[in-house]
Amino acid sequence: MMFRSVTSRLVFLYCLLLVILGAAFLGFTVLSFNYFARETTASALANRAGEVWNIAQGLTDQPARLADAISRRFSPEPLDRFIRVRTGGHTVYQSGLPENREFDPIRIPLMAPASSAQPTGSIVIYTAAFRDSHGRSVIVDTGQSDQFARTVQTRLATSLFIGLPILLLAAALAGYFLMRQALTPVEVMINAAENYTFNDPHNRLPLVGAEPRIEALGLALNRMLDRLDSAYSHVSRFSADAAHELRTPLTIIRGELELVATNARKPSDVDQAIANALEEMTRLSGIVDSLITLSRMESLWGKRTHAPVDLMELAVETIDQMSLMGDEKNIALTGPSGAPVFVAGDRERLKQVLVNLIDNAIKYTKPGGRISVQAGARDDVGFVSVEDNGIGIDPNHHDKVFERFYRVMPDRGEHGAGLGLAIVKSICHAHGGTISLRSVPEFGSSFTMEIPLLAAKSEAAAANVATAAAASGNRSQNG
Ligand code: ADP
Repeated sequence: MMFRSVTSRLVFLYCLLLVILGAAFLGFTVLSFNYFARETTASALANRAGEVWNIAQGLTDQPARLADAISRRFSPEPLDRFIRVRTGGHTVYQSGLPENREFDPIRIPLMAPASSAQPTGSIVIYTAAFRDSHGRSVIVDTGQSDQFARTVQTRLATSLFIGLPILLLAAALAGYFLMRQALTPVEVMINAAENYTFNDPHNRLPLVGAEPRIEALGLALNRMLDRLDSAYSHVSRFSADAAHELRTPLTIIRGELELVATNARKPSDVDQAIANALEEMTRLSGIVDSLITLSRMESLWGKRTHAPVDLMELAVETIDQMSLMGDEKNIALTGPSGAPVFVAGDRERLKQVLVNLIDNAIKYTKPGGRISVQAGARDDVGFVSVEDNGIGIDPNHHDKVFERFYRVMPDRGEHGAGLGLAIVKSICHAHGGTISLRSVPEFGSSFTMEIPLLAAKSEAAAANVATAAAASGNRSQNG
């Protein structure tokens, strides 16, 4: 619980690291100081023993001259040094009590010669053996107090021991505040996110002074908010439009029924009211059907299991069925002919595209006009186009006619709700295809649906299978 936050966990971890590193540094410093102090003392003592021997060589039988020579050359007592010369079991020279009184020369034991300096009490002794011209063994001891080295060592250890925890505390505090400072933008972002509502959808997470990665996270979240906002406003606009569209026929139906209920007494009035109500009911259920189709297309986006559909055959069939509607308005419908054009799709939905397009063409073409439907294949796509010589669409409206509830001239009493082309577009997209429009006002319009050919799809799939097979073949050969 204590280390739940990233800050405390990070600070704890790096303090632990600092403690380990600090202890290692302390140990290493003290040990290496110890080692170098000993080495330096030992080599100084060895040198001095050699020099003492140089002086003592001819004087071992004359202790007074030897003592005089040594004290003139080495001044042992003022410089706190210890020097002793022995031969044949007798001590021929021994320095006196040093001025700092750190050791007592009389108490220093007689030691056997050794290759390194040896600590004895508060003094380090180096013992060397030499042989004089008569073949007698002469032993020279040189010594020096190690008090200084030991004092330095203890002081060093103490100051490191006190200094390191202070350093550690300072590092922990600095680290904590740095982390707090680095995470402040996150706190600000959390507050902004908590206060976000769709009532004020333009609010975004503030990113000033944030760490680059945190800023990147904020930017990504802000882009996500942009997308959510546009999806949300799309949905709310859609429901407002849908409610608006549904209200008109409902109001008319209600008015007609109220008329019948209150003051219609003549059977002809009742008949007329019922006929009007029925017409509006039909329109209402048309709109509801369209809305259901649209929302289904969206929820099934890309999940449909597609079967081969021949666009050529589909176009011919649809024209056969709709030519009667054209005849009623004296509009000639011409259909395509040619080789089958197979695409992968949902036959009913693709047929709905053609029905909507031809229905519009008939609606927006004056009597005596003509409509021509073409189908075929080019490159990797199959296409069907519906061309009329009707009223045409102004270029300003070309993109918008595919939007839901969009009508070019809504007040001209058109019967559609502006959903036909939106359905066409969503069906084409669900098939991985496109719908495009070319139109010149007063001359006519041409809508073209393009869907990837089944052959192109299966060729691509086959190519994939072939590459995969080749790759696995290579693998098995290598293996
Ligand atoms: P509706 O179902 O109301 O016809 P659509 O989505 O099918 O709605 O069409 C949207 C608008 O595009 C229509 O209001 C109409 O003005 C215009 N439009 C569609 N097809 C044609 C066409 N073939 N010629 C001229 N205008 C057209």
